[in-house]
Amino acid sequence: MKAIMKVAPGVGNVEVRDIEEPQAAAGQVKIGVRAAGLCGTDLHIFKDEFRSFPPVVLGHEVAGEVVAVGDGVTGWQPGDRVTTETYFSTCGQCRYCRAGQNNLCLSRRSIGSAVNGGFTNYVIVPARNLHRLPDNVDYETGALTEPLACVVHGVTSTPTVSPGDLAVIAGPGAIGLLTLQVVKAAGATVVLLGTDKDDHRLDLARALGADYTLNVQRDDPATLVQALSEEGLGADVVYECSGAGAAAAQLLTLVRRKGRYVQIGLFGKPVAWDLDQLCFKEIVATGSNASIPSAWAKAVALIGSGKVQTKPLITHRFPVTEWEAAFATFDDRAGVKAVFTPV
Ligand SMILES: [Zn+2]
Ligand SMILES: [Zn+2]
Repeated sequence: MKAIMKVAPGVGNVEVRDIEEPQAAAGQVKIGVRAAGLCGTDLHIFKDEFRSFPPVVLGHEVAGEVVAVGDGVTGWQPGDRVTTETYFSTCGQCRYCRAGQNNLCLSRRSIGSAVNGGFTNYVIVPARNLHRLPDNVDYETGALTEPLACVVHGVTSTPTVSPGDLAVIAGPGAIGLLTLQVVKAAGATVVLLGTDKDDHRLDLARALGADYTLNVQRDDPATLVQALSEEGLGADVVYECSGAGAAAAQLLTLVRRKGRYVQIGLFGKPVAWDLDQLCFKEIVATGSNASIPSAWAKAVALIGSGKVQTKPLITHRFPVTEWEAAFATFDDRAGVKAVFTPV
């Protein structure tokens, strides 16, 4: 079967290779991949900015059909429509694993970086990782459960938003557009910020429920945020989803005293941040690392109920053999999200 693989350490070293079809061992399930989302993490692995263990098949946003189950697996059978959590293994014993925070386990090994992932025909995962797709959720839509679970974790595991809050989100990429929908579902008013390249994405943001969108290169968001906020004091909560240092700095100016700053995007490098503002404003700042199992259950429910729509985010579709074209759309910021299908 053809697979998009990181074949060696260093920058690049990604190619399509023919590999043998894997089989499910005890406790594992073999999924026939139907759709797998291309994520910023895959690009970071390509650029050697994110740790990987080559040779390894990339892809961790997977939906498909169970085709075989290993010994001892109960509750799942061939034909089940599923998506899968991404931690192939964690130690199961450290203080984080014991507390249900397996995302923070130092021994965590994930599909698509440490263990073969989903940019191919079949992927093997532990049965405990599976989530059933609701009948009304197709495979493409279901493949985006993973980024949604990451957003749900960032927004809800440490409570960040309440009904009636004014929220400002920077960055209308896939993560920002998912954050928008989760924060709207929580009852906030949302201002979404983008730049000159984001016109199309800001249109999509309004279609997905953003109350206001603004191009920060054309207009100053401070005026709008002041006008919308209680007593003109600023946003109750801000979410940085762009991974741009300038956005992080700007959000610090838009959040009110005693407000909350939430980092969801990754910068890939240190950025300048005026930490004095944490003192002056008594801001609470939080961040999130991937996702935890409870966030997956919420993500599946949000997709199934239609409170979060992932389908409109999918702007490109490619067979795995056209990985170079797919990766290029991401770097160009053309569209929002690309999804691979096996060949
Ligand atoms: Zn991802
Ligand atoms: Zn652990």
